[in-house]
Amino acid sequence: MSEKILIVGCGFSGAVFARLAAEKGQKVKIIDKRDHIGGNSYSYKDKETGIEVHKYGPHIFHTNSKEIWEFINQFSEFNNFTLRTKALTGGKLFTLPVNLMTINQFFNKTFSPTEAKKFIESLQIEYPEITNFEEFITSNLGTELYEAFYKNYTLKQWGLHPKDLNISTAKRLPIRYYYDDNYFNDKFQGIPVDGYTKIFERMLHHDNIEVQLNVDFHNMKDDWQKEYSTLIYTGSIDRFFDFKYGKLPYRTLKFEEIRGEEIQGNAIINYTDLSVPYTRITEHKWFTPERKFDSSIAHIEYSFQADSENNPFYPIRNKESDNLFNKYNELAIKENNVIFLGRLAEFKYYDMHQVIASSIAKFKHYLKTSEK
Ligand code: FAD
Repeated sequence: MSEKILIVGCGFSGAVFARLAAEKGQKVKIIDKRDHIGGNSYSYKDKETGIEVHKYGPHIFHTNSKEIWEFINQFSEFNNFTLRTKALTGGKLFTLPVNLMTINQFFNKTFSPTEAKKFIESLQIEYPEITNFEEFITSNLGTELYEAFYKNYTLKQWGLHPKDLNISTAKRLPIRYYYDDNYFNDKFQGIPVDGYTKIFERMLHHDNIEVQLNVDFHNMKDDWQKEYSTLIYTGSIDRFFDFKYGKLPYRTLKFEEIRGEEIQGNAIINYTDLSVPYTRITEHKWFTPERKFDSSIAHIEYSFQADSENNPFYPIRNKESDNLFNKYNELAIKENNVIFLGRLAEFKYYDMHQVIASSIAKFKHYLKTSEK
C-alpha cells in the first residue's frame, strides 16, 4: 500500500500537518471543497482599495507560546497590531474588554483600581455553584455590566440565552481593574503583513505536497484507502459519520459590505443592544495601520443558526451538543488510520494558535506511532 497521506481541509489544522509530514519526507495530498486554501483564516486583497480583507470574519493572531510564534513567523512577517475593541451600548461607546476605563465611564465615576474592585465586588452575585455563562458573568461583574455588554450580545451572537450556554464560552472574556484595553493578554500578537493566504501558500509550497481545491471528500469517502495509508480529517465529525446520530449545532455568520472614505476609525466595534440586528462591524484597513489607503471597506456581521452543512463557524457548546459530540467521538476513536483534527472534527472553538499547537502535537504522536 502507498504511504501517501490524504488531508481533508486546507485550514490551519490541515496545512500545518501537511507541512510537518512533507518535511519528514512523506508524500501528502491536501484537498478542500472550497475554491481557496486557508480555511476560515483566508484573506484576500480587495481590488478596489488594496486592503486585505478577512473573508470569514476578523482574524488576529495571538499566542503566549514562543514555539508557536516562531513556527508561524517562518511563513510570514507580522505587524504589531493590537486589538482594542469598542462597544456601543445604550447610545454610548465604551472600551472593551471590561477594564477600569469601562467601569469608570459606565458608572460615571473616577474610581482607583482598589475602589473599582470593591465597588464591583459589591455588585457580584453569589451562587452555590456556577453552572452557566450568565452566572459566570454576574458572579464577576454584577447585573448592570452583564446586561449592557454580555446579555443581548450573547443572544444575538449565539441565538441562546446566556443561561443556556456553558461556561467554556466565558473563557475568552477577561476582566481588568486597570487601564488596559488590549483585548488579548498574550505576549505575541499581530497580523501577517501580506495577509493570511500568503502564509498558507508558503506553508503548502513543498515538493512533497499536492493541493487540490473544489473537491469534497465525501465524494471519495469509500475509496480513499485504495490510494492512501492515512487520512487526516479536518471536516465536520458528524458529516464523516453521515449524521448517524443527528447534526451538531453551529452558528454561522453573514456579512454585508460597506465602502466609504472613512467608516468607523477602529478595526472592530461591537453593537450590544438587541435593537441593532448585527453583532459587530469590522473595518479591515485598521488591521494594517502602518499602510495608508484612499478609501475603506468594512463588513457588518450578522449571526445565524447553522449546522455542519451550512458554513459552520462557532460550535454551540451545551450539555446536549457535548453529549452528541461524545457519541461521534467514540466512533472516531475506533477508526483505523484516521486522525480527526481541528475545530470541526473536534467540535471545539479553537483559536489559530491553538489549532496549530494541536496539529503539531498530533503530528508528533502520529510520527511516533507510525515509526514503531
Ligand atoms: P478551518 O479553517 O475551518 O478549515 C477546515 C477546512 O476544511 C475548510 O476550508 C473546509 O472547507 C474544509 N472541509 C470541510 N469539510 C470538507 C470536505 N468534506 N471536503 C473537503 N474539504 C472540507 N482565531 C484566532 O486565533 N484569532 C481570531 O481573531 C479569530 N477570529 C475568528 C473569527 C471568526 C468569525 C471565526 C469563525 C473564527 C475565528 N478564529 C480566530 C478561529 C480560526 O478561524 C480557527 O482557529 C481556524 O480557522 C481553525 O482551523 P481549522 O483548520 O481547524 O478549520
